[in-house]
Amino acid sequence: MKALCWNGINDLRVETVPDPVILNPHDAIIRVIMSSVCGSDLHLLGGYIPTMKAGDIIGHEFIGEVVDIGKEVKKLAKGDRVVVGSIIGCGECSYCSSGAWSLCDNSNPNAALLEKVYGATSAGIFGYSHAFGGYAGSHADLIRVPFADKGAFKIPEGLANEKVVFASDALPTGYMGADMAGIQSGDIVAVWGCGGVGLMAIQCAYLLGAERVIAIDRIPERLRMANEIAHAEVLNYEQVDIQEALKEMTGGRGPDRCIDAVGMEAHSPGIDYMYDRVKQTLRLENDRPNVLREAAVACRKGGTLSVVGVYGGFIDKFPMGAVMNKALTIRTGQMHAQKYIPRLLAHLAQNELDPSFLLTHLWPLSRGPEGYDMFKKKKDKCLRVVFTPN
Ligand code: NAD
Ligand code: ZN
Repeated sequence: MKALCWNGINDLRVETVPDPVILNPHDAIIRVIMSSVCGSDLHLLGGYIPTMKAGDIIGHEFIGEVVDIGKEVKKLAKGDRVVVGSIIGCGECSYCSSGAWSLCDNSNPNAALLEKVYGATSAGIFGYSHAFGGYAGSHADLIRVPFADKGAFKIPEGLANEKVVFASDALPTGYMGADMAGIQSGDIVAVWGCGGVGLMAIQCAYLLGAERVIAIDRIPERLRMANEIAHAEVLNYEQVDIQEALKEMTGGRGPDRCIDAVGMEAHSPGIDYMYDRVKQTLRLENDRPNVLREAAVACRKGGTLSVVGVYGGFIDKFPMGAVMNKALTIRTGQMHAQKYIPRLLAHLAQNELDPSFLLTHLWPLSRGPEGYDMFKKKKDKCLRVVFTPN
């Protein structure tokens, strides 16, 4: 089959690779219908996620059709159209059972690889390095889905592919950002980042009771979408002082809840400091705003900082004084796909959410390298490129 493979920093190639096969009775093989780029892939492209190997297939946001199932798969049948969460979970361990699917104890055979750095690593993730399980990704004709009964959800009849594909990652991640923020009705919520995840966080913040959402980015087209489609008030961080603007818009208090949907370097091409503390500190001092610091300082007393933007390594000079003296709550994590996807499918079917506007480019997988280049450089009003395999 054809697949989009990582071969080094900014080096993606469409290659011919062996078809996946059932390795475990709980596996399913899915023929990919659509597979989207995600901001997290930019961390791989930039070389910020260690333990990638040449030839690894990337991609983790996808829908497809079941073409084969292992003997223990009970809920799926050949021909089912399914959305698969990007995070793999066994559904049986104490973490999965409590809804913390991205902390699964059993889906990451390589958890020890990053143990020295993090103390432990999270669950397996499709197409996201060997430290996250070494699973082949979805930018391919076919993909093996472990624990398929837990991670693959049948798509309700009538839900269009372009609407449901983002229920794999961008939508549940945005929802989790809003959920972790603990939004109370009437709250003012600030969302940093208007990529797919941030735009979904805006929609979900309203769904969960926010009265006003203020979105922050610098890319005009994304700010336009945040405003016109997701109905947020918007701030361009290159044009206004975010701290002052947020104070002014919230009667001097600051937003009740702050959501970081940016993460470490997705936004800033060419940053090479992630594993170099000294250089990182200098860049943060002199170069550009750091979202986490900004959110912590902006947030009102007793507010919540919800971080779905991805981080790795160190974050220097975090304003712990602001967190402590304002009694902020910080919540974060990789997304608990299986916890959120069922309720999100219901919202989609009811037309209460519609992420289809995220899909700005529908391209054949053969244009994968070009698609990632456009996504990375935020060219041609690109928000998310979705690939259709053969
Ligand atoms: P994206 O690259 O499409 O969007 C990121 C946006 O942040 C861009 O529009 C960029 O202009 C904006 N930005 C950059 N610097 C900013 C600043 N200082 N202030 C405000 N906005 C700024 O990425 P995405 O797909 O939307 O993903 C966003 C983040 O969420 C990434 O870090 C990604 O890795 C992470 N993510 C996390 C999970 C999870 O499980 N927790 C899942 C999916 C994605
Ligand atoms: Zn993702």
